[in-house]
Amino acid sequence: MKLAIIGSGYVGLTTGTCFAEVGHEVTCVDNDAAKVETLRAGKIPIYEPGLEELIKKNVAAGRLKFTSSIEEGVSNALVVFIAVPTPPQPDGSVDLSFVERVAREIAGVLTDYRVVVDKSTVPVKTGEKVRQTISRYNAGGVAFDVVSNPEFLREGSAVADLMKPDRVVVGTESPRAAQIMRELYEPFGAPILVTDLNSAELIKHAANSFLALKISYINALSRICEASGANVDMVAEGMGADHRIGRAFLNAGIGYGGSCFPKDLSAFIKISEDLGYDFNLLKEVSEINRGQRDRFVKKIRDALWVFREKRIGLLGLAFKGNTDDVRNSVAMELAQIFLAEGAEVVAYDPQGGEKALQIEPRLKLAASAEEVADKADAIVVATEWKEFRDLDWAAMRRKVLSNLLFDGRNLLDPQKIRALGFEYHSIGRS
Ligand code: NAD
Repeated sequence: MKLAIIGSGYVGLTTGTCFAEVGHEVTCVDNDAAKVETLRAGKIPIYEPGLEELIKKNVAAGRLKFTSSIEEGVSNALVVFIAVPTPPQPDGSVDLSFVERVAREIAGVLTDYRVVVDKSTVPVKTGEKVRQTISRYNAGGVAFDVVSNPEFLREGSAVADLMKPDRVVVGTESPRAAQIMRELYEPFGAPILVTDLNSAELIKHAANSFLALKISYINALSRICEASGANVDMVAEGMGADHRIGRAFLNAGIGYGGSCFPKDLSAFIKISEDLGYDFNLLKEVSEINRGQRDRFVKKIRDALWVFREKRIGLLGLAFKGNTDDVRNSVAMELAQIFLAEGAEVVAYDPQGGEKALQIEPRLKLAASAEEVADKADAIVVATEWKEFRDLDWAAMRRKVLSNLLFDGRNLLDPQKIRALGFEYHSIGRS
């Protein structure tokens, strides 16, 4: 089947590539001409495990190409995906101007029946607006259908998630579009849940908010553990072994960040408010999340006393392991708090360094994790990269100026690390 994906970022590029991998013919469109040139030159603008090889393979096979012309994409495709940003506005609501613009642009170049699929994360009822917009600007009155097909991939394992999804959600009122979507996803062998448009849109916000809630729940428990002398890791094990609960997303730490959870949660709170429901539960989830970071900073401050003129070695900049994405990263927020108070921040991230430096040029990037320890007054683990767990911590201990180690992701074994002479602080583990 022929597809166009409008927006070639973390979602559009990986989705388009995986569709090509199962045999579809995919045109990835982006209005960032420099990005399109980079892709055409065989360079990949993001880090995502396994993606580069798949792109090269499918470009070579002629199933994947890149363009900045929406007309070229739409004229060659039966199914047109919208995968553009839906950033937050100051009041928490979603900026839908990117989606609206793409809807108008698609309408302007429609010459034949198309299925227009919204993959961006959008508030419930956006599909209806997309349908109205395309109808209004579609001068020739060409037939089309609108589908909501929310994306659940996780950055860092996006290729694996796309190739083997838990489920595919297809929201549409059109049996014709539903059938096309079934055929499109058939090669993935995943369960396909067909719903109405509004339910599909709600599923995405409901799922992300629930995952954020799970994280904040264990983080709230980490506070009780600290106050009572219990160990949050063990509590999580005991809870998570119950299949009704599950162990995933029960890792205590400095909270969630990234380009999705914080914005999706604020959006869902705002959407609910607009629909007449005060979603206080989610407001508390967000509050607990912010509090985790603040409590961690307080721990560091209590030990270091002042940040000014201190050299803080920061392990991790990306919002989580296995990605170079530093958008709304808690690690970045920590760096900025330390820098604002006059500390020197020497940071290392296996993939996110360059992107972090573009946002925060006062960072000093270390060439390796070991270099972060050089004469550091404190080491702070802020991102759960596996390679940080596997570091030679005895060698790290020899390089630091003071023995303070703050583990914001409960990545290290307290007993082993203390045996090396570190004064070790983590979350919810006395
Ligand atoms: P991104 O910023 O990485 O990519 C968006 C791309 O769209 C950019 O390359 C941008 O240049 C392009 N774009 C913007 N306007 C355009 C236009 N008018 N025409 C063509 N291209 C245009 O964003 P992302 O992380 O891929 O997220 C996209 C959507 O998917 C968002 O709604 C997001 O919430 C959702 N989502 C993201 C993830 C994730 O993990 N990143 C997961 C699920 C859903």
